Amino acid sequence: MSLPKPKRILLKLSGEVLMGDQQFGIDPAFVAELAAEVKAAKDTGLELCLVIGGGNIFRGMAGAAKGMDRAQADYMGMLATVMNALAMQNALEQLGVPTRVQSAIEMDKVCEPVIRRRAERHLEKGRVVIFAAGVGAPYFTTDSGAALRAAEMKCDALYKGTSVDGVYDSDPKKNAAAKRFETVSYDRVLADNLKVMDASAVALCRDNAIPIVVFSIREKGNLARVLAGEGVQTVVQKD
Ligand code: UDP
Repeated sequence: MSLPKPKRILLKLSGEVLMGDQQFGIDPAFVAELAAEVKAAKDTGLELCLVIGGGNIFRGMAGAAKGMDRAQADYMGMLATVMNALAMQNALEQLGVPTRVQSAIEMDKVCEPVIRRRAERHLEKGRVVIFAAGVGAPYFTTDSGAALRAAEMKCDALYKGTSVDGVYDSDPKKNAAAKRFETVSYDRVLADNLKVMDASAVALCRDNAIPIVVFSIREKGNLARVLAGEGVQTVVQKD
C-alpha cells in the first residue's frame, strides 16, 4: 500500500534517530546522513516541513517519573527539540539546503517564531521549514506538534521516520510472530492502542484526513524509497 506522490509533506523524526549508535545526545555524523536523505527527498521537488523529537536528550515523562514536576519537565523536553532542530538545520545548510527553524517557544536569538504565513512563503521559496518545540505546551509530544503543523501547512501526508519499519499488531521486539500492517485505519490504531503516535496526534490526523506513513529511517535510502511508494511502510488512513 502506498500513497499517490505527495507535493508537500511533514516529516517527523524521533529524537532517538539523531543518536546514531550512541546511547544519548546527537551524533553529528549520523545527523549529516539524515540530512543527506532529506536533501535527496527535497531535490525531487517536494516541499518539506520537518519536526524532530527530543527523546535523545530529554523526555518530560521520564523527568516526571523521577519526581520532577511534569509541566516543568515537559518544557525541558521542548527545549531539547530546539537543540535537535538547530543540529539538523546546521547539517542541511552544510549540504547547501536553505532552511528556517520556527519554534513554538519564542527564542529570537536562534530562530523564528512559528508564523504560518511566513512558513508558507519559505516553502514556496524552496526552503525546508523545521518546526521546533512541538505545540509549545506541556502534556503534549512532538507527534502532536507534527500532526498540528501537518494540518495547518496543508501537508498531503505525515511521514513518521522511526526505528521500526511500520505498525505491528504487537511489539515486534517482544513477539517474533508480530504482524506488520500494510494499511490500518485511524480507528483501529486508537481502539487497539497500536504504537504509532500518541492518541491526540492520531485523532488530529484522522479529523483532518491526513494519512500517516510509518517507516524506518534507520536504513539508508529508505526515505526516498518510501516516498516513491516502494519501501516497507504502513499507511494509517481512513477505512
Ligand atoms: N514536549 C511537550 N510538548 C510538545 C512537544 C514536546 O511537552 O508539544 C516535550 C515532552 O516532554 C516530550 C519531549 O518534549 O517528552 C520530547 O519530545 P518527544 O518525546 O515527542 O520526542 P521523540 O519521542 O519524538 O524523540
